[in-house]
Amino acid sequence: MDSALEYTLPRPDGSVVYFDGRSSRRRPVTLAFSDQLELNEPSEAAIFWPYADIRRADGPAGTLRLTCVAAPALARLEIRDAALATELVSRCTRLDENASGRGGVATIIGWSLAAAVSIVAVVLFGVPLAADRLTPLVPQAFERRLGDVADGQVKALFGNKVCNSAAGQAAFAKLVNTLRDAGLDPSIQTAVLATAIPNAFALPGGKVYLFSGLLAKADNADEIAGVLAHELGHLRHRDGTRNLIYNGGTSFLIGLLFGDVTGSAAVIFATRSLVSASYSREAEHNADTFSIDVMHRLGRPTKAMGELLFRVTGKEMDKTLSILSSHPLTEDRLQRMRDEDRPVSGPPLLTAAEWNSLKAICTPPHK
Ligand SMILES: [Zn+2]
Repeated sequence: MDSALEYTLPRPDGSVVYFDGRSSRRRPVTLAFSDQLELNEPSEAAIFWPYADIRRADGPAGTLRLTCVAAPALARLEIRDAALATELVSRCTRLDENASGRGGVATIIGWSLAAAVSIVAVVLFGVPLAADRLTPLVPQAFERRLGDVADGQVKALFGNKVCNSAAGQAAFAKLVNTLRDAGLDPSIQTAVLATAIPNAFALPGGKVYLFSGLLAKADNADEIAGVLAHELGHLRHRDGTRNLIYNGGTSFLIGLLFGDVTGSAAVIFATRSLVSASYSREAEHNADTFSIDVMHRLGRPTKAMGELLFRVTGKEMDKTLSILSSHPLTEDRLQRMRDEDRPVSGPPLLTAAEWNSLKAICTPPHK
């Protein structure tokens, strides 16, 4: 694990409470994010929860209540700090796998039969048809594992430069959390990568990447929010998975069938195709629709995203910019975002100070 990702929080302020499952005593703790979740209580030994073992439990509104597979059955962690909750959720890849158990195995067996039939369809009818048919059948858990493998490759591809200044992280978490409150999947993970390329993209399983090059070109939080919502639209519609099946071809499908993600050479090829993914016009249109809906719900401008993309691509269509190949910006799309624009009715997504912190997320903290 990248040690730069670790940071320690101040003394317990009551926003995070741990119940050990043996007594009813509330134990205020602080959280630290290393290669697992660390629960720290003054003058007590730290408690460690592996991220993959953390599960969501039902809790009151405004409180993230968590359990841990490896901890005593009644142990609970309650978090009332939204930014902290977002930060933690982004690391827990199996948060909502509570109800699976035996059923999970049955699902995968059932799915494999469907996949086997579909692979025959690939041979008979070619991949494009099968990609559309297969995508809805790919289990979420498989998508997540696939995303995890691709995540490592994406980070390696961009020099493992994950931006994480503390103030920038907090602002980014707030922005993502606001988008999430507008009706998005809670299991998405986001990261800012330091690279001059102005781009953003999504990986199957719920990972959204924002490149600092795009952040540098952005004038306000609405522009970035619109782009992130667009990427979340691709996730919601599983466009990345569809592309993987389409581009990965038969070897990828066989990897899917046998659940072999990490060993599959197809994934390396597929990651490349994901980063430079080019979605269909229809997929782009639907992702725009998703973004427009989210911005409407937040009472924020829909044209902001269009203006950012237009600023990046300029009037000259520079084909070397990946944002253009992955998100062809036509005048039609910008016009649509302008047409859909409504008077601002919601609060700013970030304060001016938070926006500045987000812009500076890749600047290392002052030592
Ligand atoms: Zn797109």
